[in-house]
Amino acid sequence: MPDNRVLIVDDDLRICRVIKRVATELGVESKATDDPGLNFWREIERFEPNVIFIDLQMPQIDGVQLLRSLAEAKSTAAIVLVSGMDRSIVETSEELGKSLGLNMSGILIKPIDIDEIRDMLLRNFDVVEKHLRDALEFSEEELSEAIRNNELVVHYQPQIELVTDKVVGMEALVRWQHPKHGLVFPDNFIPLAENNDRLIRELTYAVLETILREDLFQRDDIHELNVSLNLSARMLGDLSLPDQFEKMLQGQQFSPGQLLIEVTESGAMEDAALTMDILTRFRIKGFRLSLDDFGTGYSSMVQLYRLPFNEIKVDKSFVMRLLTDEEAASIVRLTIDLGHSLGLEVVAEGIEDQETYDWLKSLQCEIGQGYFISRAMDAEKFVHWYDQY
Ligand code: C2E
Ligand code: MG
Ligand code: MG
Repeated sequence: MPDNRVLIVDDDLRICRVIKRVATELGVESKATDDPGLNFWREIERFEPNVIFIDLQMPQIDGVQLLRSLAEAKSTAAIVLVSGMDRSIVETSEELGKSLGLNMSGILIKPIDIDEIRDMLLRNFDVVEKHLRDALEFSEEELSEAIRNNELVVHYQPQIELVTDKVVGMEALVRWQHPKHGLVFPDNFIPLAENNDRLIRELTYAVLETILREDLFQRDDIHELNVSLNLSARMLGDLSLPDQFEKMLQGQQFSPGQLLIEVTESGAMEDAALTMDILTRFRIKGFRLSLDDFGTGYSSMVQLYRLPFNEIKVDKSFVMRLLTDEEAASIVRLTIDLGHSLGLEVVAEGIEDQETYDWLKSLQCEIGQGYFISRAMDAEKFVHWYDQY
């Protein structure tokens, strides 16, 4: 049997079709039914889905009754609730599912779009992510052409100041709006770009240019937010980088102080002298620096102390596990302490639930980012989200 199996139960056949289509694109096997009765239970037995999408309102039975029956049947599948009702009702149903001991793993509010379904599936299947990473292979020419054709888009994931629960910034994350494959995630093409100095440079500048052009920042309240940008460590050998960035910002609505440049730990440390030169000049020009994915790389505390960072980001692999894994919790706690004793702000990414959010807040971690707050969204959706937050 394939590793990943999705079952959809919804009386709206269009929803069934759309979810099935996205699942197929991701290489995930799926079945759909509009019958929450016999057919549904037959599929549960035979197909043994490990993710189930359930419509909360069906003519024959409501979703909550179905959740009860699944709990009685001791289902361990991840359950996603789909509904056109008020978010608060859906959230309450989700809580109810949790209290019944079910593995509730998210909600989708109709009308749902393809990106949301895709994200929900990706979230539920590490295996799918791996499949995606393996399955989509691009050539350097294809990526280069995509950059020229403006196929790269930038999505924004909000960042919250935990003490005040206020939005203080966002991380800009690149995606490739591929004419054939749909929205392609960065893990599929960043490593390719990093193989080639010219490509990664073009990609980085394309992302920065996109941010600078974005209508989003015409709004005064949004314009005040910080924007974090990922810089491949591969580019830290290019001495002209700080000047290029400064030049690109000239005459723009952004000041360097609003931009946080995220560099991943592993690469940031490779050539200490050159790295130090470039990072220091970024700081002199007013940009701020963030050390990304902290805990996964090779830095020593001494290097962290010597390099001019303003912020460290605890890697999401620790944050996502901190409630269930003592060691992950210790790493996060120690990183927060380390950051604070070096006078740095600490960002936790990968917050997926309220308890993790509260835990980090109680440890005085400054900033939080994660699916619990929001996924990354395109500029238009970001504005919408921001207005409702
Ligand atoms: P990163 O910089 O560590 O970005 C955080 C990644 O974690 C993002 O994935 C984000 O969507 C994901 N994430 C955030 N919160 C959660 C959560 O609660 N749960 C889970 N499971 N994941 C969460 P994304 O967008 O796929 O980006 C992956 C990586 O691609 C980034 O990791 C970054 O290293 C690279 N990348 C993205 N955009 C750019 C770019 O413009 N330039 C360069 N050089 N690299 C980029
Ligand atoms: Mg990052
Ligand atoms: Mg990271």
